[in-house]
Amino acid sequence: MKIYAVSGYSEVGRNMTCIESNNEAVILDMGIDLENYITLQGHDDLEFISTKQMTVAKAIPDISVLKNIKKNVLAIIPSHGHLDHIGAIPFLSAKFNCPIIASPYTASVIKAIMKDKRQDLKNDLVSLKLNKKIKLSDNFSIELVNMTHSIPQASTIIVHTPEGKVAYANDFKLDNNPTLGDKPNYKRLKQLGKEGIKALIIDSLYADEHRKTPSESIAKEMLRDVMLNIDSKGRAVIVSTFSSHIARLKSIIEFGKKMKRKIVFLGRSLAKYTYAAEDIGLVKFSKKVEICTYGKQIQKKLDEIEKNREKYLIVCTGHQAEPKAVLSKIATGKYRFNLLPEDHIIFSCSVIPSEINIKNRKVLEKLLLQKKVRIFKDIHQSGHGAREDHRELIKMLNPEYVLPSHAKLDKKQALQNLALEMGYHKYNVPILKNGDILEL
Ligand SMILES: [Zn+2]
Repeated sequence: MKIYAVSGYSEVGRNMTCIESNNEAVILDMGIDLENYITLQGHDDLEFISTKQMTVAKAIPDISVLKNIKKNVLAIIPSHGHLDHIGAIPFLSAKFNCPIIASPYTASVIKAIMKDKRQDLKNDLVSLKLNKKIKLSDNFSIELVNMTHSIPQASTIIVHTPEGKVAYANDFKLDNNPTLGDKPNYKRLKQLGKEGIKALIIDSLYADEHRKTPSESIAKEMLRDVMLNIDSKGRAVIVSTFSSHIARLKSIIEFGKKMKRKIVFLGRSLAKYTYAAEDIGLVKFSKKVEICTYGKQIQKKLDEIEKNREKYLIVCTGHQAEPKAVLSKIATGKYRFNLLPEDHIIFSCSVIPSEINIKNRKVLEKLLLQKKVRIFKDIHQSGHGAREDHRELIKMLNPEYVLPSHAKLDKKQALQNLALEMGYHKYNVPILKNGDILEL
């Protein structure tokens, strides 16, 4: 068996791995590097730009390592619908003559992105329910085991080959009280551990943090506290979070109703992920929320809100202070909306620690504070597990090889150290970088 660490092994983003066995192969994830993409475009909404431009910006994976096995690829399998796992599909999937197989929500997001880009997907898009197995050939089967993260229907992918099973846990947290969807399918994971796993590819983002990532239900309580227990009478209340975080948006809507405010979603990506969830019957937000997507529509709504600010709850894009997102445009005056002293701005997110995000957020917060608003930061719990989640998953799956991914060198080494602490030999926990091929 060969494992191609195509991309996402030397950075956080543009995830892509290929598993080859008996002259057949599957690709796991095909993502963009969000940091490089935002540097290029000023926001995180995928737009039509050329594959060449994306390549030059290092925003998509370099697939040259796969040039000899392109024809052998049986399927492209995204683990979940985040852009760092599916965002390169519009640019690269046509190079492979095979279907894309994904959970219904992930498939729905891919469809929405292609529609947005006004492009046809050359590959067939097959939706596979979580916890179901699909046979790709006599050698290969795929299974999407239900996993918790920060987007609906995330999965740990299990690749079954005659040479053993590979588990792909990119990304995951172990949430025992999710606010949408089920907790991880521990029963199946433990069973797979007993059957034997050859290799586990594992999200190492917080491998150096000695904790277990708290549940999404904790983030919900944090939101409840700032939305319901702080007097916002007469003030505007603006919340910004990840557009794909449907569970978080569900909590925000629940509290917005309790505040007796009209809820409006402002921004294209909020609309996109919401409609993708509605298309498969996951939520019914548009019954409770007014959704505005484009510039003029958003401005008109903001004009209305300004006259009656205490009657509305604004949910908008721009939690990472992307310059072209709605919150930044309000702060810079590109959208006319007068922020007044003691208006509430709630960031239901953390700052993703990349240079550009940190810089953008600093600029945004400075602008907001000049207006003397109240800022509530970090009303959030991450979708990525930390060291004690990693330990649990490794124990459950008991793999022969542990392959740290989804991080730069320091975090991959932290995960390697954890595995060594658990009794692994260094040989079984190799540190891969982009373009490496590991033969097992
Ligand atoms: Zn993710």
